[in-house]
Amino acid sequence: MVINRKYQPFYLLFIAVLIASCSPKVTAVKTNSALNPDKTTKTSSLPVIRGPHFSTDSIYTTKTDSLLGIVKQQQPVVLMDSTGLIATPSEWVGSVNFGIRKANYVVIHFTAQDSIQQTIRTFTIKSTEVSAHYVIGKDGKVYHMVNDYFRSNHAGIGKWGSVTDMNSISLGIEIDNNGSEPFNDAQIKSLLLLLAQLKKAYNIPTANFIGHQDFAPKRKPDPGPLFPWKILAANGFGYWSDDALELAPQNFDYKTALRLIGYDTTDLNAAIIAFKRHFVQDDSTTQLSQLDLNVLYNLYQKY
Ligand SMILES: [Zn+2]
Repeated sequence: MVINRKYQPFYLLFIAVLIASCSPKVTAVKTNSALNPDKTTKTSSLPVIRGPHFSTDSIYTTKTDSLLGIVKQQQPVVLMDSTGLIATPSEWVGSVNFGIRKANYVVIHFTAQDSIQQTIRTFTIKSTEVSAHYVIGKDGKVYHMVNDYFRSNHAGIGKWGSVTDMNSISLGIEIDNNGSEPFNDAQIKSLLLLLAQLKKAYNIPTANFIGHQDFAPKRKPDPGPLFPWKILAANGFGYWSDDALELAPQNFDYKTALRLIGYDTTDLNAAIIAFKRHFVQDDSTTQLSQLDLNVLYNLYQKY
């Protein structure tokens, strides 16, 4: 096509407008202002794709917004006497120095379900009232389902040391496993990567990586005797007994030793079974053999 020289600038402008109107919209987005205060990057504003979990993601967002309302409250504590009258004056004065609370424990579970799809469904139905921060599939894929700073409903009623509300101070990790099969290498590899990140991010002590069975010995059997606690301990997540074991003394107070590790010994048999499922992994009876006692004697000194 030949364009008259006189009209060429107008033609070029027309082409430019046409290209701009047909191209994806480009939006300037500020990057992390603390790191790059002056830099901007350009990203395409892509259409919103509604994934398979769109509806439950939407409920998650609504719930997040409602929790945001709670943390934004700036009201003083109200202290009343037994007659319902205000017993002492109080006032809200916002401090300028605070942050968000972080988890200090990790509780590991098996899902006791037949598939990852079943578990994801369980954790995205309100009526089940259960969840976990993370679920690890058989292929090692990690599903992050609750923000680390939120309280997920994974541990329930139980006691470990003096901790009774474990959900409030822990992260829950569920591993896709029906409860009677071995955990596979892909799952353990992903778990170790995840635990390393969580331990570092939240400064979680080595002793504070436990199983659901440890926290709730009367109710829960997971993650069970097939879980590789020895591998976890070798990587700094929980403890494991030494290879060379000292003989436990004749008068060894095993009940106190179990309690010092963290077990709730009000039901001693349940505590012994949970201990053996975690640290001995050969049977689930309530008897403590000399080997079991030696393992316990070795371990309680680490806690
Ligand atoms: Zn569990």
